[in-house]
Amino acid sequence: MERGHTEVIVPVDASTGTARLDNGPALAPTTAQRLACDAKIQLLLDDRAGNRMYLGRSHRLASDAQVRALTARDGERCQFPGCPHTRYLNAHHIIPWELGGTTDVDNLIMICSFHHTVVHDHGYRIHRVKGRCEFQRPGTLVPEAAEPLSGKAESLVEMHTRAGLHINHKTISSKWQGDNLDIDYVLGLLLLPKRIPAAA
Ligand SMILES: [Zn+2]
Ligand SMILES: [Zn+2]
Repeated sequence: MERGHTEVIVPVDASTGTARLDNGPALAPTTAQRLACDAKIQLLLDDRAGNRMYLGRSHRLASDAQVRALTARDGERCQFPGCPHTRYLNAHHIIPWELGGTTDVDNLIMICSFHHTVVHDHGYRIHRVKGRCEFQRPGTLVPEAAEPLSGKAESLVEMHTRAGLHINHKTISSKWQGDNLDIDYVLGLLLLPKRIPAAA
């Protein structure tokens, strides 16, 4: 698994969570937090007293052995409910690292890079409840989802046939007025956050 390609120094002010690239632009605190979780960057942490400490990667990033343990525990799959992604997984700190969350397997969870951005940028919280993780979007619980489907397309066709569904190349044709599908509108109805624009 390829993890953490980024090699930049990001000073973070621990009291406000704000970060700024050296001689560069400020980063959104959520972006800094996401980088702190899994990116191979060097972080300089300014504490409340203004003392600057260098915090290397060894305490912040999951070790290869931890990643192997996490991957096995989390079924080699993103743990966001219903997400089938098995690649580009990030080790996310449930209690944020910059707030004192430790890089221990118990405080880490595997999520894909898309959901990692969703969790940080939209203020999701994760709680361990009876050995499994609950995801909470601000105010509401993300409902548990069944295991994502896997396997061959033939078994899906067989399922559809047994269910009496006649799915063919016309099934996906829209039955509305021909407007483009407004995905943000659909996400809004499902109480999900809007899509995140691709990084520049
Ligand atoms: Zn994270
Ligand atoms: Zn995911």
